[in-house]
Amino acid sequence: MTERIPVIEGLFTEGPEGPRLLGSRCVTCATPYFPKSLACHNPSCTEGRMEDAAFGPRGVLFSSAVQNYPPPPPAKYDEPYRPYAVGMVDLAEGLRVLGRIDTPDPSALRGGTPVELSVGHLYRDTEGRDVVTWQFRPC
Ligand SMILES: [Zn+2]
Repeated sequence: MTERIPVIEGLFTEGPEGPRLLGSRCVTCATPYFPKSLACHNPSCTEGRMEDAAFGPRGVLFSSAVQNYPPPPPAKYDEPYRPYAVGMVDLAEGLRVLGRIDTPDPSALRGGTPVELSVGHLYRDTEGRDVVTWQFRPC
């Protein structure tokens, strides 16, 4: 079986209830952050103690674009390069997150489409491992 590793440790998890993004939330004003933030950046927040929080899986696509050419380093991808969609997703928890959109037709995506968080293949590394990342798919 192919070993599966996250592109970056600590950004997402695949638990029994499905994938979640790992972030934080201000205990005082409830502002959510992804990735985790050590401090609250809400200018009207006076205290700003942070706690760990998990976000997802439901969201709505705000906007999207097609990555038609290979992204510059340090981005990695499988050869031959295949265009993919990236989108800004408004999560139900009040957070706007950037991610790949898993769809067979990237140019057909429209804002307002309901999406759900998933974890999927990003590229195969030099040791043959399946490097995975968070993404969203229309639902
Ligand atoms: Zn705060």
